[in-house]
Amino acid sequence: MSVPVFLITPPFTQLNTPYPATAYLKGFLNTKGIRSFQSDLGIEVTLALFCQQGLQELFNRINQLGKSLSENATRMLAMQEDYIFTIDDVVLFLQGRNPTLAHRICKRDFLPEASRFAQLEDLDWAFGSMGTQDKAKHFGTMYLEDLSDLISECVDEHFGFSRYAEKLGRSANSFDELYTALQQNYTFVDELLLRILSAHMEKLQPSLVAISVPFPGNLYTSLRCGQWVKKNYPGVKVAMGGGFPNTELRSLSDPRVFEFYDYITLDDGEAPLEQLVKLVDGNLAEEDLKRTFTLQDGAVEYINNAKCTDYKQAQLGTPDYSDFLLDKYISAIEVVNPMHRMWSDGRWNKLTMAHGCYWGKCTFCDISLDYIRLYEPIAAALLADRMEEMMKQTGQNGFHFVDEAAPPALMRALALEIIRRKLNVSWWANVRFEKSFTRDLCVLLKRSGCIAISGGLEVASDRLLQLIQKGITVAQVAQVNRNFTEAGIMVHAYLMYGFPTQTEQETIDSLEMIRQMFSAGVLQSAFWHLFTMTSHSPVGLQPEKFRVKRESMLVGSFANNDLVHIDEEGADHETFAFGLKKSLLNYMHGIGLNDPLQKWFDFKIPKTSVDPGHIKNVLEQDQYVSSKPTQRIVYLGRPPVVEHFTKSKKGNSWEMTSLVFQDKRAKVSISVGREQGDWLAAILQKVSISNPGTVTLQEVTDSYEAAGLEDFELFWDNKPVNTLYKVGLLKL
Ligand code: SF4
Repeated sequence: MSVPVFLITPPFTQLNTPYPATAYLKGFLNTKGIRSFQSDLGIEVTLALFCQQGLQELFNRINQLGKSLSENATRMLAMQEDYIFTIDDVVLFLQGRNPTLAHRICKRDFLPEASRFAQLEDLDWAFGSMGTQDKAKHFGTMYLEDLSDLISECVDEHFGFSRYAEKLGRSANSFDELYTALQQNYTFVDELLLRILSAHMEKLQPSLVAISVPFPGNLYTSLRCGQWVKKNYPGVKVAMGGGFPNTELRSLSDPRVFEFYDYITLDDGEAPLEQLVKLVDGNLAEEDLKRTFTLQDGAVEYINNAKCTDYKQAQLGTPDYSDFLLDKYISAIEVVNPMHRMWSDGRWNKLTMAHGCYWGKCTFCDISLDYIRLYEPIAAALLADRMEEMMKQTGQNGFHFVDEAAPPALMRALALEIIRRKLNVSWWANVRFEKSFTRDLCVLLKRSGCIAISGGLEVASDRLLQLIQKGITVAQVAQVNRNFTEAGIMVHAYLMYGFPTQTEQETIDSLEMIRQMFSAGVLQSAFWHLFTMTSHSPVGLQPEKFRVKRESMLVGSFANNDLVHIDEEGADHETFAFGLKKSLLNYMHGIGLNDPLQKWFDFKIPKTSVDPGHIKNVLEQDQYVSSKPTQRIVYLGRPPVVEHFTKSKKGNSWEMTSLVFQDKRAKVSISVGREQGDWLAAILQKVSISNPGTVTLQEVTDSYEAAGLEDFELFWDNKPVNTLYKVGLLKL
């Protein structure tokens, strides 16, 4: 049976979970009654390669080449039988379907080992705390990385998981190099890819192939797919869209690109794709396409029918994960750190809480583009509906919210909705380190299943954070991170170096702040990025305002987003790359936290000007957060056991109430005055999560006073009641 639309994610994004773009489009097409089929060619090629037959073909090909190989490749070739013998079992294990193999893998006499295993010597200390399954996953990952090295050395120089031919795609102002590569014979991996594509095309017989290209690492393979379809199915139209064209191809003018695709769409894909479906069906003229490049009379034209509007988030339907090989994804552990590994380990349903970014001010960010600029949140109830649907469909209850920055108020509303519906989920999200992540909000998020958050700290320097217009300070980030970690939520920070005018001193001071945060235990994982000037960010649009220059004002005919810039005032930023990354990798494993920063660099660095106790002092500062009468009071726990007793002291006696709360991990008991205790037990029922409606702090205060009790603040903010956040009495 033919299917009109074939949605493709070309190799390679991630191996542990499908990239969500086509699932979003398929969910939308469902709402329009348009049938589609989606395929993650990344996992399909990986499985075709990493199996007995795939490796047999690979080794045959290498053996036929007869070229001289490195010592590492020669060793691997000598062990080819071992690789072929073990590969199916390893893949099954990494798919979670062969857990007992972990014991054999950990014994280190089952898998052949090449150069990637050399780094394991450095990691011996980290393995002490790892379980057998995780350790074996890490060994299995090294084994696949060894094979990946062999492929790139011998048969496909561009090969690499999640960054295939990335160098060709990244910042290619001109299409020349890619075009030349695409005129060459198919590589070994191309052949596998096109064999799989061919089987799908034969079965589906689509009229439209829509290829999603999120990253530069998917570009080359998407062009290979387009080239093959246009050659073998000339009647089928090929469209391309996604994160890569949205940022890079906005000024596309090279007509040769349309030898591979018929159409390239920009920004949100739903409305442009719907127009393309109508066009292919003969129900629309080309002039009525939306945000679409095509070739007309030999020239690249951009068509944008203003009458065709985009859809609201609520109209898009639930992402549909059918068709994917959901039980075949591979969990890998590349970095032995409990937070860092979440990107490559485990299956996550991906969702967003909002379209765009509610902040939209950071000066390095593409804030002039619609994917950031147009902010539209999705109602918490609708999000929870979508989560329930996706759990039913995929059988997975893990969610990764891939927002630019999830809004705290919506996270709060969603957490309440999850708890109220009793959904058993684990989730993590990308956030801004807002002050509004208070102790109580973090406790709420944790109780709803939030296990981790990631966010941009960028440069840990208040001067540069101001230039970035990040709207946060280093002290604030440290305090917010403490709230997350104390609640049991892991924190990952995106770090940046090389922002315009950043000095050597600021880079080192920023590293010192990070060291202190790791040392204080309020940061579990992080990653350094070198600042890149992009053409749609405030820095790229007005470099002189940030005291840097563009190296060239030329606009290329292909990709145009990353701009080369000259920073005369700043440090030679790239020289810091190795030391920053090395120190961080060690800090993530709890190593070298007390060593001098100079240890990580092989050139002289300035002495840090940050006080060694700076972050510790910040964390000890008064944590009191003032209350607002409009704040919501909610109780998530069970009803306490209430008992009355008489307390006597120095001949006086008075009536007291004891309230005993049983929580999953502990018992909390408090004693207060008799009337206050009775009132508290009653108000806990009223603010219980199981009741509909909202009770504000003002209403709680009014109720207290109506009961004839005095000094509300003294009672509410004092120790006994203030400890009840541990059992779920929260001020939100
Ligand atoms: S960097 Fe993040 S928080 Fe800042 S504007 Fe961009 S998406 Fe928003």
